[in-house]
Amino acid sequence: MMKFWNFLFSERCPKCKKLLATTKSNAIHGTIIKACPNHHYQKEFHPALETFIESDQVS
Ligand SMILES: [Zn+2]
Repeated sequence: MMKFWNFLFSERCPKCKKLLATTKSNAIHGTIIKACPNHHYQKEFHPALETFIESDQVS
């Protein structure tokens, strides 16, 4: 679990290498959505499941 959190907070955009910013969090579903400030990349984290969903489309 610790590895997962380290990963979460050091995540960078694969295109421009900027740190992803937390754009939305959903307390009900326990998800955290992080996105590149330049809209290249988005990652949705599901801490309860210790999994994540990557996307190159920012919603
Ligand atoms: Zn980027």
